[in-house]
Amino acid sequence: MRDGHDMTTKTYLFNCLQDNFGVLLRDPATGSTASIDAPEAAAIEQALERTGWMLTDILVTHHHSDHTAGISELKKRHKCRVTAPRKEAASIPDVDLGVAEGDIVKVGNLCGRVIETPGHTAGHIAYMFDADKIAFVGDTLFSIGCGRVIEGTPEMMWNSLLKLRALPDDTEFYCGHEYTMANIKFAMTIESDNMRLAARAAQVERLRAAREPTIPVTIGDEKQANPFLRADRPEVAAAVGLAGKKPAEVFAEIRARKNRF
Ligand code: ZN
Ligand code: FE
Repeated sequence: MRDGHDMTTKTYLFNCLQDNFGVLLRDPATGSTASIDAPEAAAIEQALERTGWMLTDILVTHHHSDHTAGISELKKRHKCRVTAPRKEAASIPDVDLGVAEGDIVKVGNLCGRVIETPGHTAGHIAYMFDADKIAFVGDTLFSIGCGRVIEGTPEMMWNSLLKLRALPDDTEFYCGHEYTMANIKFAMTIESDNMRLAARAAQVERLRAAREPTIPVTIGDEKQANPFLRADRPEVAAAVGLAGKKPAEVFAEIRARKNRF
């Protein structure tokens, strides 16, 4: 099999644009394959060539152009179905199916559940493949970071992160960008004595030195090391001078500090 892929492989991860991730999800039983977002058509075509997989679906997380610019070209060539958040369908090209909280999206026989995660954009969604324990979280959650709060409030974003944090610990998540190293540098300013963060930092240095991606990561590992998922921990509130304050306020302060970092 090309690239060491066997008949049970479900995902293929690759780089797009400057720092976006591209990822393909394939159902081994039917061969149906989804591209999660479409940052750029050329890189996705190359991934399809390498794997020999055939594109049947595009699952869009949000309307930003670094997640949607490749949709029209891919759709023209592959006649694939485009699934996107209903709330953002008007600002995403060629949408066939608009979805919202709790909807099920099938890729062949694989079943993805839509989780609304507003904050980065107002209609942002994630796709959780429960049976496969794989989540695609777009620009809501990054490893050791989270997306900028552009169209929502910090409280909205915090609630979205709580929904992702509540997924089973052994869920592997794929995010929209390779920002992990920069995120770790910031996280160290919040929780310098978090041993799980230090361990993650060492692992990420090894991976980046080998030019390898730092994802997927499990939700269980992530919630021990990512300060944005830990805004309800007393030690994190204290670290930003907000002991006893509401988690959403602590989250807002951490997010504001990251914006200035
Ligand atoms: Zn975005
Ligand atoms: Fe993005």
